[in-house]
Amino acid sequence: MLPGLWRLRLPLPWPGIPHCNAWAIAAGDGIVLVDCGMHQRGSLAQLELALAQAGLALEQVRRLVITHAHVDHWGQAASVVDRAGCELLMHPNHEHAVAGVADPEAELARQLEVGRHGGVPERALRAYAEHPRELSAGIARVIRPDRELVDGVVVETDLGEWRAYETPGHAPSHVCLFQPERRLLISGDHVLGRISLFFEYGFSPDPIAEFMRSLELVDALDARLCLSGHGRTFTDVRAHVEAERALVNERLSATLEGVVEDPRSAVELAPAVFGEPLEPAAPWRLLELLCYLRHLESAGRVAVELDAGGVERWQRV
Ligand SMILES: [Zn+2]
Ligand SMILES: [Zn+2]
Repeated sequence: MLPGLWRLRLPLPWPGIPHCNAWAIAAGDGIVLVDCGMHQRGSLAQLELALAQAGLALEQVRRLVITHAHVDHWGQAASVVDRAGCELLMHPNHEHAVAGVADPEAELARQLEVGRHGGVPERALRAYAEHPRELSAGIARVIRPDRELVDGVVVETDLGEWRAYETPGHAPSHVCLFQPERRLLISGDHVLGRISLFFEYGFSPDPIAEFMRSLELVDALDARLCLSGHGRTFTDVRAHVEAERALVNERLSATLEGVVEDPRSAVELAPAVFGEPLEPAAPWRLLELLCYLRHLESAGRVAVELDAGGVERWQRV
C-alpha cells in the first residue's frame, strides 16, 4: 500500500464474511482511522494488534471516521473514542443502527411486521421471535457523532484531503471518502470487490433509487484504486460499479417478470428473483426483494394490496 496508509484486517464472526477492513491514514502527529470493526470478545485487542503491526497505537487516533453504521464498521466506535479521546465523524441518518438497541421490543415487532407483510409463514415468525437476533450484538455502546459526516466534509491527512460523499442505498448512513489527487476511494460497503448486495429496508422510501444514484456519483469520481470495507483493494472501480448496477437491474427485471396477474407475496416471488426460495438463515434477502418491489411501486409498475391475512400481495399495473 502507499506510505502513510494501512489496511487493518479485522476478524468477523460471520460465515462467508471473515473480515472487515479499517483504514489508518497518517495525519500530522496522529492518525485518522476509517471504520473500526465489530465489538465482540477480544475485538479491541485485535484492532490494537493490527495497528501495532503497522507500528501504530490506538492512542494516536485523532479522528474516527465511520463509512456507515453497520456493526462491522461502527461496532467498537465507543471503545475507540473512550481510549483515544478522538473525534467521531458519522452520518446523521444512523437510526437504522440504533433503533434496535434503544427499543429492542419495538424493533423486533417492526421486523416481525415486515416478515408478515412479506408472506413469511406464522410458524417461522414465531420461531424467529423466540430466538431473536441479539439486537445490540456487535455494538460496544451507542455513540453519536461529534461531527456530522455529510456531503462536502473534508478530512485532512498526510496523503491530502479526503472529501465525504453521501452514498445512501446499502444503508441510509453510508458515506464514501475520495482523495482527488491520488484518486483513492474509501468505498465502505457501497462498492465491493466481490459483488454482493444488501439494502436496509424501512428507513427510507426507496433504497434502490438511492443506491443507483450513489453508484452514478461514485462512477463520476473516476477513482483509480478502491479501498473497500471487505476484501482486497481493487483498481477496476468502474467495472465493479457497472457490475453492481447490472445485478440490480437484472433482479429488478426478474422481480417485475415474477409479478403476474394473480397477486403474489414477496416470499412467493423470491425463487423467480434469486433462483431459490428464501432461507430463514438469510432474512436480508427478503428485505432486498421488498426494496425492489417498493422501487417498482414508486415507478408505477406494480401495485400492492394487503390481504385478509396481513400479507402484502403484489400485482402488475
Ligand atoms: Zn454494511
Ligand atoms: Zn460491512
